[in-house]
Amino acid sequence: GQTLLLDGITQRYGNTLAVDDVTLDIKGGELVALLGPSGCGKTTLLRIIAGFMAQTKGHVIVGGEAIDGLPPNRRSVGIVFQNYALFPHMTVAENVAYGLDARGVDRATQRSEAQRMLDLVKLGHLGDRMPRQLSGGQQQRVALARALAVNPSILLLDEPFAALDKNLRLDMQIEVKRIQRLSGITTILVTHDQEEALSMADRVAVLSQGRLEQFSPPTEIYDAP
Ligand code: ADP
Ligand code: ADP
Repeated sequence: GQTLLLDGITQRYGNTLAVDDVTLDIKGGELVALLGPSGCGKTTLLRIIAGFMAQTKGHVIVGGEAIDGLPPNRRSVGIVFQNYALFPHMTVAENVAYGLDARGVDRATQRSEAQRMLDLVKLGHLGDRMPRQLSGGQQQRVALARALAVNPSILLLDEPFAALDKNLRLDMQIEVKRIQRLSGITTILVTHDQEEALSMADRVAVLSQGRLEQFSPPTEIYDAP
């Protein structure tokens, strides 16, 4: 996996200082949980990494190279959102192949790669279904397969389990951790669930009102908000 350095990231919305000089040095293949209450700046930070918005100050550096100027589609970043965000009119396999299609990959390769990704998330038999025919957990696996299909350097998970019930959430935490380990992809998991952060992450970054309060292995995290 590639290293990811957030170097002094600051984001203002008018008078709101949403992210305040956050520096995070993330190792290749590491899973970092970004933990904190609603409004602490987690989503803003993810958007800046993905390139959906430009930061007020600071740099995003992947594998030693600043990517600040690049639009989202030129960044090697895969994202999974809380609400799956699958395309409802496309089959599961077409959803997974979407990013490959957009990059001009030929049909046969799209099909074989989509199948490989669906096998990885244990849905190899459901490629021809429509998203609405799948359960929430299955849809979230498809979203993960889609994010990984373009072989990104960085994986961003934005509260990916929040919409799932408790049992499914625990299954998915284990499953996502397995896949992340297997692929060795550098990953940021945004969550406001402290247990989830502590059980899944190599290191936990605790944000409070836009500031980085702690950045440590789970065993050393104290009193997260
Ligand atoms: P989190 O994801 O941790 O809930 P956000 O990044 O969404 O936090 O928000 C951080 C702060 O920035 C909050 O105070 C929020 O109200 C504010 N904020 C987020 N997006 C906008 C926006 N588009 N315009 C103005 N303020 C925003
Ligand atoms: P999340 O649940 O991921 O933290 P939010 O519910 O905070 O996301 O934000 C949802 C949307 O509303 C985002 O587009 C965010 O930028 C926007 N938003 C959040 N806070 C504000 C705000 N104070 N003013 C304007 N837009 C905001």
